[in-house]
Amino acid sequence: MSFQQLVEHSRRYGSDPAFVLLGGGNTSFKEDRTLYVKASGHALGTIGEDGFVRMDLDLLEQIWHKQYSQDDEQREDEVLKDMMSCRLEGETARPSVEALLHALLPFPYVVHLHPALVNGVTCAQDGEASVHRLFGEALWVELVKPGFILANIVRERLIAHQAKTGKVYSLIFLQNHGIFVGGQSLEEIAQIYTEVLSTIEAQLVRKPDFTECEADADKVEKVSGVLQGLKNERILFRNTLEFKHLLTDRSSFAKAGSSFTPDHIVYAGFKPLWVDEGADVSKAFVQFEREHGSAPKIVCVQNLGVFSLGEKPLPLFFDTVAISVYSESFGGPRFMDEAMINFIRNWEVEKYRSQVSS
Ligand SMILES: [Zn+2]
Repeated sequence: MSFQQLVEHSRRYGSDPAFVLLGGGNTSFKEDRTLYVKASGHALGTIGEDGFVRMDLDLLEQIWHKQYSQDDEQREDEVLKDMMSCRLEGETARPSVEALLHALLPFPYVVHLHPALVNGVTCAQDGEASVHRLFGEALWVELVKPGFILANIVRERLIAHQAKTGKVYSLIFLQNHGIFVGGQSLEEIAQIYTEVLSTIEAQLVRKPDFTECEADADKVEKVSGVLQGLKNERILFRNTLEFKHLLTDRSSFAKAGSSFTPDHIVYAGFKPLWVDEGADVSKAFVQFEREHGSAPKIVCVQNLGVFSLGEKPLPLFFDTVAISVYSESFGGPRFMDEAMINFIRNWEVEKYRSQVSS
């Protein structure tokens, strides 16, 4: 059965760090007007059949003919309620916020991922031009609010493209987010992914170098102790060649000093805390928390290394740095803008996701 095949492929993508970090991304399968789409809060790498929600595609279609509130929070609330009622009887899980996009793409299989290599393009200054140059038939979507607004824009572009060319986009690049690939089979999708990654890789002028570096053990222990005292979390420390370049001064740090995608905000905080060499870590931490209303999850100490509060933020910070380095081959990094970062920080759906997965 094809749904089982989807589950297998989802696990394969989900276990490969080149494709997925911390369970991000989602997949779907359509059969007889039923959409099987990943439920919120499940990690792709370990997903089973129970990690998917079955939804009625005809009911989902009706969402496009309804009027929703202009207010962000109210609109996403209303849409979520409607999406919940599109589930087949007996379904209790919450569909992924990206279920609407899965429903829109007229392919039996859709695989949506956030590979660092791909985001090296979607989070780059020349991202759009590069996508058009490298992948002629692909759709580029600029940074827009996720959820209903994003799905609505994709829907309009799909309709317009089909009216003009008679074709459907099977490849969609979302600025500061990731990639959607649709196909008639999972083999076809796997091939498209291989092509996309190798095409981008062939353009790279430089790759991140995460070779481990030594760090002053006394200083590391001292900072770890301070952070442990501030937040009762396991403190992890890493220093690599790439981090060393990054942590020489504030201006080099700017290349990794903000958020590239919603996932980075959810798991690693909206920005890392920078601490000048020799400065009071505790003071900087408390000031950050007071200023932004949330504690930092990544603390970068000049000429020392990177501290992670808990295990989850660290791989996301590595991802940020990888994306930043890849983006150098496409005009340099481009973070999400301030307004979008605030939108994500306040978005209830994302809050739910970070709760479920923690
Ligand atoms: Zn996504």
